[in-house]
Amino acid sequence: MTIEGLEASHARAPQAAPRGRDRAADDAVERPTVWLVGAGPGDPDLLTVRAARVIAQADILLCDDLVDRRVLELVRAGARVLHVGKRGGRASTDQAFIHRVMIREARRGQHVVRLKGGDPFVFGRGGEERDALQAAGIAVEVVPGLTSGIAAPAAIGVSVTDRRHAAGVAFVTGHAREGGPGPDWQVLARSGLTLVVYMGVARCAAIADALMAGGLSPSTPAAAIGAAHTPRQRHVLSSLGGLAADVARAAIESPAILIVGDVVRGAAGLAAHNPTDAGCVAAA
Ligand code: SAH
Repeated sequence: MTIEGLEASHARAPQAAPRGRDRAADDAVERPTVWLVGAGPGDPDLLTVRAARVIAQADILLCDDLVDRRVLELVRAGARVLHVGKRGGRASTDQAFIHRVMIREARRGQHVVRLKGGDPFVFGRGGEERDALQAAGIAVEVVPGLTSGIAAPAAIGVSVTDRRHAAGVAFVTGHAREGGPGPDWQVLARSGLTLVVYMGVARCAAIADALMAGGLSPSTPAAAIGAAHTPRQRHVLSSLGGLAADVARAAIESPAILIVGDVVRGAAGLAAHNPTDAGCVAAA
């Protein structure tokens, strides 16, 4: 459904009758509720059981573009799906509009699901949406999802906290909010943590340069994984110094996860055998 079509369909949409389908629906009868649901990285088999159940019960879903289309096959006939993502060169749907629709539909007794790729609280503006809903007196249930920062490395056999190589992991954005502070690459370079970079593929060269300027060796293992857990999954195994060139050669584009750190060495064995992966395009 297009944004423009929403108002028209709103006029036609039936008021939700109270239904005792499960705990979630019962709660909705008591108080207007919105479910903030993580759709995982792609493959619907990686949804949580709760996410699948809540999606199947939705009257209206507001869906980000990162959500795999196969997940939407769980939506019941007659439910309204509103695509509010901002990928593919289209402008982002105004965040305030998303808030307004969720609040209005929840107050009408509709089972409202806000569906986001990965986990709703990891780089997904889920916190802002929670705040807006709660300020309007709407109850919020968060259904966590499998975040791409863990699922993408796992798809090529990388354990982000393998204790033989790292004391922990930092999830960072490669694309800081306009006017907002970006990650301190110098500090991260010295941290000894595995670095998992979201939204970083377009700025891969600048990020690698900043990390090397901060002291990381150009030979530090690094990888990029595009469209993990989808039929389009591809990855490169490289080094920090070679990553940008290898990513460009392999034409890995957003959505992609970058991993920097010795844990990437773990990829070598499993990656070649992963049936979902379209190919390791360049070797380290
Ligand atoms: N909430 C999401 C992240 C949203 S930010 C999550 O928890 O995964 C968007 C970024 O997530 C993308 O630019 C990319 O870096 C990453 N991403 C999401 N899905 C991905 C996938 N299937 N494969 C690789 N990266 C992905």
